[in-house]
Amino acid sequence: MKWTDIIGHKDQVAMLCHMESSERMPHSVLFAGPKGVGKSMVAKVLGAALLCSNQKDRPCGVCHSCQQMSYGSHPDFLFIAPDGANIKIEQIRTLQQEVSMAPFISQRRVCIIDGAELMTTQAANSLLKVLEDPPGEIVFILIAANRQMLLPTIISRCMIISFQTLDDHVLAQALMAKGHLPQPSEVAARLSGGRLGIALAMLEPEGLALRNQALEIMENVMEAKMEILWHRAALLEKMERDEILQIIKYITYILRDILLLVTGQGRQLLFNIDIVEDLGELADKWNEKQLVRAIKAVEAARRALQANANTRLTSEALLIKIVDLAKEV
Ligand SMILES: [Zn+2]
Repeated sequence: MKWTDIIGHKDQVAMLCHMESSERMPHSVLFAGPKGVGKSMVAKVLGAALLCSNQKDRPCGVCHSCQQMSYGSHPDFLFIAPDGANIKIEQIRTLQQEVSMAPFISQRRVCIIDGAELMTTQAANSLLKVLEDPPGEIVFILIAANRQMLLPTIISRCMIISFQTLDDHVLAQALMAKGHLPQPSEVAARLSGGRLGIALAMLEPEGLALRNQALEIMENVMEAKMEILWHRAALLEKMERDEILQIIKYITYILRDILLLVTGQGRQLLFNIDIVEDLGELADKWNEKQLVRAIKAVEAARRALQANANTRLTSEALLIKIVDLAKEV
């Protein structure tokens, strides 16, 4: 766990590294930015650096403190994440008790609160009191994908460090450096929208299962086999809403890629470069106008599902709409 393990985020890492090494670390920082870009990893390395007992080049990775960090058993390091859907008041109360004691082996304590925007109002108010009057030497690192959901009074207590998604190329190179094959790395980097955590999940076995289901749905649509489509709608109904939304997102990406092929925009812009032959076959059957209308229909279905519409009815209506569009000459 070292600064050099961090993928991308060069400016943020340089600033944090400078603040830590020059002993100018504020009591509370907020890492804000999209989910899955590596904020937790940066927070853990910063935490290790703040606790490391080496005189320079922290975290050193070899001192007692760094070893405890790598075992996940550092007594001065606290990590809080949602318990279920929220971070609850009890978790913040436990935190208050722990931070009231002096550090055990390091110069200070470090507390990471991951998913800080998911604190209940009670928990947030309780944390605010700790941030207003921090007990002794402690650094709080709050992590939030949606900073608007945090109390403004909490935000005002923190130095905000913003994170962005990674460049596709940088991410693909990093995945290859971790030993992944070039094409899967490229696909994961593009489909994840530059989010490391999501890209790594896509590289797991079955990591692209939902994308592959989206492709099968589009192929079924072209075959216009209604019994298969009803069966598909029934399967979708049994899935979690998040999974259906992901399939719908992948259908949009597939339609987008087909549109790029149909309009001759060049293959370097495609997301799904691993299934380009399947996309080419679909591209032979669609025209630009149909594709634009299909993308709009998919987006409308996505919005309806996000607004809690009935999954079965929305899925069926969407599939019928795409079949109708595909039949138009
Ligand atoms: Zn160390």
